[in-house]
Amino acid sequence: MADVIIVGGGLSGLAAAYALEQQHVSYTLIEVKGRLGGSISSQRRAGFVIDGGPFILYQSEAWPWLSDLGLEDAIYEIGRLPDGNRLIAFKDGTQSLVDALVQRLHSGQVMPRMSVSTLGLVEDQFTVCLENGMVIQAAALIIAAPARYAERMFYTFEPAISEKLLRFRYDTITRVSLGYRQGQVTIPLEPPPDAGFAFGYWTESETRVPPGHVLLQIGVRYPLPRTRPETLVAELQKDMGWPDPIVADTNYWPEAHCLNPHHHEHQAVMAAIDALLPAGVALIGSDYHGDRVEARMAQGRTAAEKVRTWLTR
Ligand SMILES: Cc1cc2nc3c(=O)[nH]c(=O)nc-3n(C[C@H](O)[C@H](O)[C@H](O)COP(=O)(O)OP(=O)(O)OC[C@H]3O[C@@H](n4cnc5c(N)ncnc54)[C@H](O)[C@@H]3O)c2cc1C
Repeated sequence: MADVIIVGGGLSGLAAAYALEQQHVSYTLIEVKGRLGGSISSQRRAGFVIDGGPFILYQSEAWPWLSDLGLEDAIYEIGRLPDGNRLIAFKDGTQSLVDALVQRLHSGQVMPRMSVSTLGLVEDQFTVCLENGMVIQAAALIIAAPARYAERMFYTFEPAISEKLLRFRYDTITRVSLGYRQGQVTIPLEPPPDAGFAFGYWTESETRVPPGHVLLQIGVRYPLPRTRPETLVAELQKDMGWPDPIVADTNYWPEAHCLNPHHHEHQAVMAAIDALLPAGVALIGSDYHGDRVEARMAQGRTAAEKVRTWLTR
């Protein structure tokens, strides 16, 4: 039996597992999907590096974890904000960060394709019930699943937390990546008002595209049914007057963007949830404390520290 069970193998759960690994605390990580990384997934097609989820990192301070993970040369600067903070991307996609973390998880048990349904507490041990009927126990828990899933886990364990998580709301987004030869599309992107862009970014950096090419990475919020992946690229081409792309990739995220952290009362809600969490349980993830990739690394470490303190009390 491991000391800690981590629920969720996205970046938050992986960062927590990595921190526990460094502290020599035993852990089991449970992930419902067949792959780790959660909303992060990168691929290389026809020489284009395509991120289906997160791809821009905001760097406001030094990241010691980059060198710990051997990733100093894996990033490049794509721009600077007016406040001087750097915009960073991974040369081979954000998946590089996931891969580096996973490679360093040697001692813990990773259980993919296992869905956690409920949590409980039996005789000083936390219990985690899986949907296949299996029950596992540990002295501490790190819940690294979004609120829309964590709500069900807490339903019988701590209903007051579940009731607060149930109120979390999300926006959809579809990420579209299109590869072109330079000159085939007008840069900078200037979408007409009805093009449905939530954001549009492009890169001509040869770290991510073949020489003489450009990759458009666009967030689209067309209303249904225009968002259907099979017609979306054609809709965009029609709106923008673009020719057929060399590569096209669409990722529909029905609940990509948690709206709650932008509400003025979110901090108070999180303070109330933290106060309700049993000692020995941490709740982390982009729905709760900042939605940026780099915040996940810090949160994973904080959660690992919290449960380690509990274990050595
Ligand atoms: C489309 C998109 C674009 C983004 N772009 C950016 C960006 O450019 N820059 C940036 O900084 N951030 C971006 N973000 C935010 C960034 O992705 C997140 O901060 C981070 O990746 C979220 O990690 P997480 O582990 O908290 O959550 P997730 O990645 O959602 O991981 C949660 C994990 O929990 C698992 N899980 C859920 N329920 C269960 C269960 N019952 N049992 C077991 N496992 C379960 C899920 O399968 C998943 O793997 C983006 C997010 C999305 C979705």
